[in-house]
Amino acid sequence: MDRKAKAVVCREWGQPVQVETITVEGPKRDEITVKIAACGVCHSDHSATTGKIPYPAPLVLGHEAAGVVIEVGEGVTAFKEGDHVVSSFISMCGKCRQCVRGRPVLCENARKAMFTLPDGTVRTKGADGEDLNVFGACGVMAEYATMHVDNCVKVDESVPMQNAALVGCAVMTGVGAVFNTAKVEPGSRTAVFGIGGVGLNAIQGCVAAGAEMIVAVDNNEKKLQMAREFGATHTININEVEDGARAVKKLTGGVDYAFECVGAGPVVEQAYKCLGRGGTAVVVGVSDPKDKTSITTLTLPADEKTLKGSWLGSARPQYDFPRILGLYRAGKLKLDELVTRTYHIDDAPQAFDDMLAGKNARGVIVFD
Ligand code: NAD
Ligand code: ZN
Repeated sequence: MDRKAKAVVCREWGQPVQVETITVEGPKRDEITVKIAACGVCHSDHSATTGKIPYPAPLVLGHEAAGVVIEVGEGVTAFKEGDHVVSSFISMCGKCRQCVRGRPVLCENARKAMFTLPDGTVRTKGADGEDLNVFGACGVMAEYATMHVDNCVKVDESVPMQNAALVGCAVMTGVGAVFNTAKVEPGSRTAVFGIGGVGLNAIQGCVAAGAEMIVAVDNNEKKLQMAREFGATHTININEVEDGARAVKKLTGGVDYAFECVGAGPVVEQAYKCLGRGGTAVVVGVSDPKDKTSITTLTLPADEKTLKGSWLGSARPQYDFPRILGLYRAGKLKLDELVTRTYHIDDAPQAFDDMLAGKNARGVIVFD
């Protein structure tokens, strides 16, 4: 059935987000409708409002949410009404070459589900009946969302919704970059550039992995304070040093792993430069498609350095989302502390402003 829903929409790149009442259609085959309980505000949502992530407007934002299944479409067997689910902005078909080799974030079919559902259509309509695209095949910054089952992961009902939501992006991305992409060993020396929701999770991933040194690098003192609370052993404010990479090297002698959680070529260069011999820099931040990174080619062979990327923490969502929530229940990951502030959906523009001002570890929109 059709449902009216308040939703956070980008109508035009470069303009503030708008809260609108939209229509969310019921599920078709292999789809479910979810009543959203909580949705985190991620920098990637903002990037989709500027065209840095070039999803066409009009676009319903949101890709980091948890909610309850309220309607299932034909053919759905893995979900039933009442199940708690977390959205995954990676659509994983489970059948293509990448999925069967254990790399669902590279799913060959996922490219069809960037700003529509996997079949290229949407279940979201504006006031004039026009189609509204959906961020990452999710569009979950809304009271209701109809998603394909390939974009949903069932989770334990005991976890508070606002915590579970964050596993859909920030936690999986940061912790996964450490666990899955880099595979940080105990005793490693590490650095994290950019202490937003993603970077904080890279820090706590490094803690859980047993890193010896964790250097947090940001230009915002409040973020560096949060970094210490999440387990950073050292902090560097880039406004107070001439060269961030050199400062990290001076402290550590060169790190084994560096994580770039900003999304800018010059910061990627810093992350690569602060590596010791044999080190790996992992690019997590999403840059403008035209952005370029320059590195000294000889250091690749001569120092056996690695520069690699990480998409949703190289997740296997159906395995990793419950695994991360298990680590939270075991007291090994902080999720409560990540939620600095919750917002009513009517205050979504404020939540975006607060993220850009660096006020929150994560701001989360909670629904009645
Ligand atoms: P955020 O806005 O919450 O945090 C960004 C942080 O970077 C802020 O603390 C800011 O002060 C800091 N910063 C800005 N410029 C800096 C610089 N030059 N040097 C050091 N720090 C700097 O953002 P977020 O939600 O944590 O997202 C971070 C990045 O990760 C974004 O680019 C986002 O699009 C991307 N992202 C990637 C994935 C993925 O799958 N790879 C998933 C989610 C988000
Ligand atoms: Zn995100």
